[in-house]
Amino acid sequence: MAHNLETLTRHSFPESGEFFAVVSPLNNNSITSLPEISAEQLEGKIKAVSDAFPSWSARTAQERADVLQKWHGLILENKDVLVEIMHKESAKLKRECEAEVKYAAAFVDEYATQAVKPRGDELETGEVVYQSIGAVAAITPWNFPAAMITRKVSPALAAGCTVICKPAEKTPLTAIALLNLAREAGIGEGVFELVLGDAKMIGKKICASNDIKKLSFTGSTAVGKILMRQCADTVKKVTMELGGNAPFIVLKDADLDEAAEAAVQSRFKFSGQVCVSSNRFLVAQEVHDEFLQKVLAKVEELEIAPLISKDAAQNVESLVQGAVAEGANLICGSGKCDGNVFEPTILTGVTENMEIFATEIFGPVMTFVKFDSVERAIEMANNTHYGLAAFVYGGAANEVAKKLNFGMVGANSLAISNPKTPFGGMNQSGIGREGSHFGIEEYYEVKFIAK
Ligand code: NAP
Repeated sequence: MAHNLETLTRHSFPESGEFFAVVSPLNNNSITSLPEISAEQLEGKIKAVSDAFPSWSARTAQERADVLQKWHGLILENKDVLVEIMHKESAKLKRECEAEVKYAAAFVDEYATQAVKPRGDELETGEVVYQSIGAVAAITPWNFPAAMITRKVSPALAAGCTVICKPAEKTPLTAIALLNLAREAGIGEGVFELVLGDAKMIGKKICASNDIKKLSFTGSTAVGKILMRQCADTVKKVTMELGGNAPFIVLKDADLDEAAEAAVQSRFKFSGQVCVSSNRFLVAQEVHDEFLQKVLAKVEELEIAPLISKDAAQNVESLVQGAVAEGANLICGSGKCDGNVFEPTILTGVTENMEIFATEIFGPVMTFVKFDSVERAIEMANNTHYGLAAFVYGGAANEVAKKLNFGMVGANSLAISNPKTPFGGMNQSGIGREGSHFGIEEYYEVKFIAK
């Protein structure tokens, strides 16, 4: 059925007496308010996903694939309404929302295909069997309100797991829309459930539950660490997709037009609020000024979205002001926020000892650092606790990529994120991979049956 915004965000969450407001960052007005789940209601939802596991996992892989294909079709059929909802609650530009909805749908399609792939091994000594892990939990962020849900929920469902998902408080309407489309596709109650409300309470209860066999989290490294600690008591399997501090290296023989175009896209997509967004621009000293001029020309034409909140914009402002106080040059932008609006900003003369070099900026700020040898560029790129994404432009991009400690590296390419390829970080950027066969394998136990 084709929906409108109202029908696609309808919900029947039980009331607990507590509500939270969903605020649009486009104008800071409240869109609606939603009930927060109580601890008791949450226990009921955990029981529901646990109870639904035996029958969902007993379905044939083909049945699960068929249901996922229906969900995929419905997401695409309702693309325009999903774009409208996402734009309203996140302020993401409409063309970026459209790209995200297609990307989100592509995960469902990928895992409908992965569901029916044979897995396991026949050995002389026995059999290796892939067994669905059980009922699982997903906690997702606001910056990709649709794709971070389908990237977790569709491989889990494909593997025979049932899922309880807590989306970000700032973008629950996209999640509700996806749930409604899932129900329409035949993904029933207990198989996929959404819970909204107090993140700390929900996180603690999910982590402490013996009925939840795995947690897949996407969000900040700080919250990921809390959740890992809380999962220790039940020795719960975790997938952690955490923050990043991506370097973007421009070698002296790089095609500077191509590199400047990629740099601007990589930094300013969703106003820099993307985990794989380039955060540190390491540029060969021979081409630094020319590259900077090319970037500046492109930045002048940019249209970017306001940030998710005033707090987010203030964090970016304080990082920029800190860098200027430490000696960086502000050559584009005022360095100040206006409410939740932050202009595209460029800082040059950034050095490794500045706070901004070590921090995920999560805003529309380019920091330029000069290097005098490829070895120094690699050393500076790897000088971070993070290890999610990196980019290198120039003739030796492939060789440099092999020396970078990041889970994904674009060598003269930005195409690091695709449902058919593994996505995830090294070091404090995460544990485990999503996308491709790696993504579904996170939802199985591997059992050996000796004969
Ligand atoms: P966040 O503050 O860590 O929140 C992420 C999710 O965790 C939200 O649903 C949030 O709920 C919930 N949460 C917060 N505190 C919690 C707690 N104590 N226990 C349980 N859940 C808790 O991150 P964010 O600001 O939404 O997202 C930005 C971060 O995500 C950035 O660091 C970015 O790099 C990272 N990210 C990583 C990837 C990746 O694939 N590696 C992708 C996208 C984003 P509430 O919304 O209700 O607070």
